[in-house]
Amino acid sequence: MSISNRIKNITVDGNDGWDVFNKARKMISQGEKIIELSIGEHDIRTDRAIIDAMHKSALEGNTGYAEMQGIYKLRALIADLNEKKTGVITKPENVIITPGGQAGLFASHMALCNEGDKALYLDPYYATYPGTIRSVGAKDLPIKTLAENNFQPTFKEIDREANDAKSLLINSPNNPTGAVYTKKTINEISEAVMKHDLWLISDEVYDCQIWKGEHISPRSIEEIKDKTLVIGSMSKSHAMTGFRCGWVIGPEDIVKHMVNLATSTTYGVPGFIQEAAYFALLQGTASTARVSEPFFRRYKLATKIFKHSNVLKLVPSSGTMYLMVDVRQTGLSGTMFANLLLETQKIAVMPGESFGESAAGHLRIAMTVSDNEFEKSLIDICSFANNL
Ligand code: PMP
Repeated sequence: MSISNRIKNITVDGNDGWDVFNKARKMISQGEKIIELSIGEHDIRTDRAIIDAMHKSALEGNTGYAEMQGIYKLRALIADLNEKKTGVITKPENVIITPGGQAGLFASHMALCNEGDKALYLDPYYATYPGTIRSVGAKDLPIKTLAENNFQPTFKEIDREANDAKSLLINSPNNPTGAVYTKKTINEISEAVMKHDLWLISDEVYDCQIWKGEHISPRSIEEIKDKTLVIGSMSKSHAMTGFRCGWVIGPEDIVKHMVNLATSTTYGVPGFIQEAAYFALLQGTASTARVSEPFFRRYKLATKIFKHSNVLKLVPSSGTMYLMVDVRQTGLSGTMFANLLLETQKIAVMPGESFGESAAGHLRIAMTVSDNEFEKSLIDICSFANNL
């Protein structure tokens, strides 16, 4: 008796990139005090009013099975917000609510890729991407982007790898680099999508967390709007990671098939969670600005601290809740640096290697502790690097 190759192949050599994080969590469970700058989890909790909306909905009896595709008014609101942003006519039928953006990423690849199809994504990438693609039986193929180019992909880089590919997954604002794709980049991506007749999956879960430039969705490009699926989420914009509420926006026919997938997997998202998401989205940009503001403040703090380091270099970024730091001058890999940092300084960060070859020799630092603790941790990281 053996288990399926498909599930075994989700990780390569049993390594899913979360080793340092798991080690840190184990140390915490054994009573050690660890400063966690690893996972993308806010230091503030979900706004009380959002929790009240969820509570009220549940108390009123909204605890049964919810509509599989997602409650109508939430889909209508998400469709309306996306239509305003992209200029593309968007109906509730174009939206499916999923248990987080992650389930949306899985559903999208499941809907678009046959077994063995080539599915492209850009490196550095969010650590779950390769596993998500492999879990639907497709072949994951990373395309490197360059630090010299501020990790903005080019037509040429995509074109080189895209022959016979089925889909391309992009993420702007980008985890881990913090890059926000410019209009020029989006146009180049769009050209490659058209030339190679690709499906484009646009992961936009950080679209509210930008301090430089603006978020441009490729769905707003006329020529590719019908070939683009947008992934959204309440997790990052509203500090609602544990609510597990995200969505996919795309052509109605694909969304219909995703509803069939939901029927055979998740069976939808709880109604009281969707009511909380609906309430939160109605609060508008003031509430998302409140959630994202600390990250810009801490980014500015980090810029000042790393200016004084001779060995560590902060990668300039435009958004998200992370920093990328280049540690190559220490002579250590990101993985070695992160492991040593955890063991000796009790600070947990993610090694760049967890996010692909283009991020090797870097660390990804989540800006998810109080300003004071964050400042102290960065100073400790710099002196640790100096003393190596
Ligand atoms: N995409 C990116 C780029 C992410 O960083 C994350 C979470 N860290 C997700 C998708 C998934 O988020 P969720 O499932 O919580 O919506």
